[in-house]
Amino acid sequence: MTIAELAASAEIRAHAEAGRITLSHPARQRGTMRGARFADIRHALTTALSGEAQSNGCWRIDSADTDGDELTVIVAIWHDVLVITVFQEIEPMKCPLCNKGAVKAADVEISERVAGHTFTATIHGEQCDACNEVFYPGPAVEAFEIAVARALTSTDEAGGETFKYARKAVGLRAEDLASLLGVARETISRWETGKHPIDSAALAVLALIVKDAAQGSTSTLEVLRARREAKPLSKRVALKLAS
Ligand SMILES: [Zn+2]
Repeated sequence: MTIAELAASAEIRAHAEAGRITLSHPARQRGTMRGARFADIRHALTTALSGEAQSNGCWRIDSADTDGDELTVIVAIWHDVLVITVFQEIEPMKCPLCNKGAVKAADVEISERVAGHTFTATIHGEQCDACNEVFYPGPAVEAFEIAVARALTSTDEAGGETFKYARKAVGLRAEDLASLLGVARETISRWETGKHPIDSAALAVLALIVKDAAQGSTSTLEVLRARREAKPLSKRVALKLAS
């Protein structure tokens, strides 16, 4: 911290302690929306450890409200009063389940039981600080499910439950996979319900599609689709070889 910042933070604290605070209209509106009371602003300013100078001569104060939740305010020092100009838009999302807590970033555990195996992982999610409810971001859930499918299809012991899980994890409809594999739609359902043993070549292809998905690729799917759309081969075929 520079001397200027040190001096400013001492001055800001002194003004705040004495209650010499003025709120601009936008700051008041934003504060009300966020649920920040005057006491919160005063608390944030009196407990602030440092301020950062802004290019317009204002100071940015990163602090906390009376509940300890993050509160950032921009203040201008006017003669003998602090003017709160704006609140930073970092208001935490309110929990839609309990309507009380704030939802904050947290490492959360995700787990699922499939085909007799329990899979667990830690993902970057969110958690309510009041009811402790956990929120899983969609892309992280998708990555988790693809990782589960990858583990399940990594052996040849896979049964119908595994086959169906893996197919759905990569977002393939049963009729689409049937068409790509050149089997009937009913065949897929017989494999998935365990009425027929799964063709091991079909399982290997599904495992490849899953492996691709885990790496963000669709190359196996592209090969399968290209085969379906390819024109019949001519009697005489001139090939271009890589030199
Ligand atoms: Zn909650």
